[in-house]
Amino acid sequence: MLKGKTALVTGSTSGIGLGIALALAKQGANVVLNGFGDVDGPRAQVEALGVKVGYHGADMSKPAQIEDMAKYAAAQFGQVDILVNNAGIQHVAPIHDFPPEKWDAIIAINLTSAFHTTRLALPAMRKSNWGRIINVASVHGLVGSAEKSAYVAAKHGIVGLTKVTALENATTGITCNAICPGWVLTPLVQKQVDARASERGVSAEEAKKQLLGEKEPSMQFTTPEELGDLAVFFCSPAGANVRGVAWNMDGGWVAQ
Ligand code: NAD
Repeated sequence: MLKGKTALVTGSTSGIGLGIALALAKQGANVVLNGFGDVDGPRAQVEALGVKVGYHGADMSKPAQIEDMAKYAAAQFGQVDILVNNAGIQHVAPIHDFPPEKWDAIIAINLTSAFHTTRLALPAMRKSNWGRIINVASVHGLVGSAEKSAYVAAKHGIVGLTKVTALENATTGITCNAICPGWVLTPLVQKQVDARASERGVSAEEAKKQLLGEKEPSMQFTTPEELGDLAVFFCSPAGANVRGVAWNMDGGWVAQ
């Protein structure tokens, strides 16, 4: 379905981004990976699906590096047809103890980077009159939780950016939508599981149950594979007139 298209997925060396990159590659899309840590493993997983794979290590908090990544994608693949703004970090602390540099980093990586990638990808998408922009927000783009001020602010912001991007391109073949996962057991959440286990003196299994029990009625983690399939839907012909939604996949978190 996506043969001949190129997807740039930020933060795709791990977790949800890698899940979405694999799902798009299964549909035939070439993929530009981005992110830190092990690159060879994720690259091999995507390449095994028979598509062309690129990688750029831009730090999403650095606009000049984001511009360099956009140039790399255009030079290697012609253009970006599918942009997935996924890179994100978390820091958990009450506002009165929240380190200002963590606030700045979260806003830069989780929100501002998506403005830059989007402004850089749109001109070519508008020329070809086809594009899919998928912003990985969170249930925290829809509701708040204590001790996550920067994250909740950034995620509400990206839901707003999603709506404006969708509206500005509403008469074109370019759509923009947000995905709002609940708990997904990736390294980002494993850190919160481990912190709770050590603070409360409980096992990791018990800490997971407690986290799910507080927020997620299904008592199940959403998986990167399920989120990848939702991204594929947004890219499919059936998704052509889905514009500006923030679609939660959260085990009932926001229904409460
Ligand atoms: P993860 O830690 O597994 O992956 C994060 C990815 O972002 C990695 O590839 C990492 O290298 C990359 N990254 C981090 N900082 C970067 C930077 N400065 N520049 C470029 N890349 C950077 O986390 P995840 O859980 O897969 O999170 C992915 C996205 O999903 C994030 O935006 C996160 O907020 C969102 N999300 C996660 C959950 C969850 O429960 N895990 C829930 C809702 C939303």
